[in-house]
Amino acid sequence: MNRLADRVMGPVLAPRDEGYDDERAGWQTARRHRPDLVVGAARPADVQAAVTYASDCGLPVGVQGTGHASAAVAAEGGVLITTARMSAVRLDADAGTAWVAAGTRWDQVIHRTAQAGLAPLSGSAPRVGAVSYTLGGGLALLSRTYGYAADHVRGLDVVTADGHLRHVTQDSGPDLFWALRGGRDNFGVVTGMEIDLMPVTTLYGGTLIFPVEKAAEVFGTYLQWAATVPETMNSSIALISLPDVPAIPEPMRGRHTVHVRIACAAGDPGAGERLVAPLRAIGPMSDTLGELAYAEAGSIYNDPVAPGAAESGTAMLGELDATAVQAILDLAGPHAPVPHVVELRHLGGRLAHLPAVDNAIGNRDARYLLNVVSRLERADFTQIRPAHARLFEALAPWSTGGRFLNFMNGENATTQVRSAYNATDYRRLTGLKAVYDPENIFRLNHNIPPGRGPTRD
Ligand SMILES: Cc1cc2nc3c(=O)[nH]c(=O)nc-3n(C[C@H](O)[C@H](O)[C@H](O)COP(=O)(O)OP(=O)(O)OC[C@H]3O[C@@H](n4cnc5c(N)ncnc54)[C@H](O)[C@@H]3O)c2cc1C
Repeated sequence: MNRLADRVMGPVLAPRDEGYDDERAGWQTARRHRPDLVVGAARPADVQAAVTYASDCGLPVGVQGTGHASAAVAAEGGVLITTARMSAVRLDADAGTAWVAAGTRWDQVIHRTAQAGLAPLSGSAPRVGAVSYTLGGGLALLSRTYGYAADHVRGLDVVTADGHLRHVTQDSGPDLFWALRGGRDNFGVVTGMEIDLMPVTTLYGGTLIFPVEKAAEVFGTYLQWAATVPETMNSSIALISLPDVPAIPEPMRGRHTVHVRIACAAGDPGAGERLVAPLRAIGPMSDTLGELAYAEAGSIYNDPVAPGAAESGTAMLGELDATAVQAILDLAGPHAPVPHVVELRHLGGRLAHLPAVDNAIGNRDARYLLNVVSRLERADFTQIRPAHARLFEALAPWSTGGRFLNFMNGENATTQVRSAYNATDYRRLTGLKAVYDPENIFRLNHNIPPGRGPTRD
């Protein structure tokens, strides 16, 4: 360990060391990483040193950016590399691209690119780590319009299991480039990425909130509406049990409400306004729709900023009908045994198209992404898990059988990870894993085990 500390600019901490708890802490507090060593990488050479050390000692390696998914697969033992110190954005406004370092949050990227009238394909929560979000797919606010964030990556700098720092693109290292965009942390630690930016400064968006008494009408109207809207319209619908706390205004405090979130990239705000008219006609109790700067788009979902503990699960769904809606209302509405957020993000549009440079993202035929979250402050695992299981079971007839890696939480069985990919892509991924990480040192994650497959490019 001393030798490693000599080679690393950032801290190298064992459980007995002061600072260990702060360094391993992530945004999610439900499950904590407990590595043998945590390495606070300050530069790519630190990542190389940590990976080489772990590989020499036969230890597994995990990575943490902001820790928004640290509850997903918590590291027990091994070496955890934290990247928060590696935060940087280099903008090339003429090319419409940005290079983003491993530990950078989306709000830092947005702040930089907005000055040039450009926006990244960031998601609902601006404080999520840009690199891991993108490697896991990256379902963006504007993904129906532009595709997954992973579809717009030009190049990646990655430290592979052999400790080498490689720059991979479609022209140099196409297999690894393909696998990393979707395979996330199974093939190495990405130290930086070059991404395309979109010519977006403002959008038409916000939230419509309805009382639960109108839930059946709102869900029914929304599903019919979503089937007809152009790909400039991005939206989701969520049934939310709001906590009884002063931060929530009356009359919503402590109640179940239905939230329709809108992010329309039509250019003309009038076009967005015309499109949402059927939803507005139902009579929301709160309406924040209007033109807003992309830099303010985090207000649409208003995701929690403070660290917290939650249990969640996900499934990809096909077209939904009134029976599916009734199942959601019965199992997650006011009579549910635990408070839920049940969200359906509308897919399709550009998400259904293969990108110009293919990647490992699967399940492009799904129509909705189901995300179910319950906060552990309001119920415990023994109450939440069976409640979520009942909901997923009830919605099984509408499931495509797929999952979305970025929203997978404790689901780490091989069958669950496999469901994030198409069958042939999964075989290719296990083959490439055998080439680039044959000892599976990158296994403190939603793991793709090494299989038999092609030789490296
Ligand atoms: C409130 C909230 C809102 C969200 N909204 C969206 C959304 O709109 N769209 C969407 O697609 N996702 C969304 N997510 C999911 C989020 O994108 C993923 O959880 C993402 O992986 C978080 O990255 P992180 O760095 O913040 O988390 P971390 O917990 O630090 O990392 C998550 C995973 O990425 C891996 N990883 C981290 N850094 C690297 C690296 N440099 N190289 C390789 N692997 C790495 C880690 O091994 C870990 O498995 C949301 C999550 C939350 C909690």
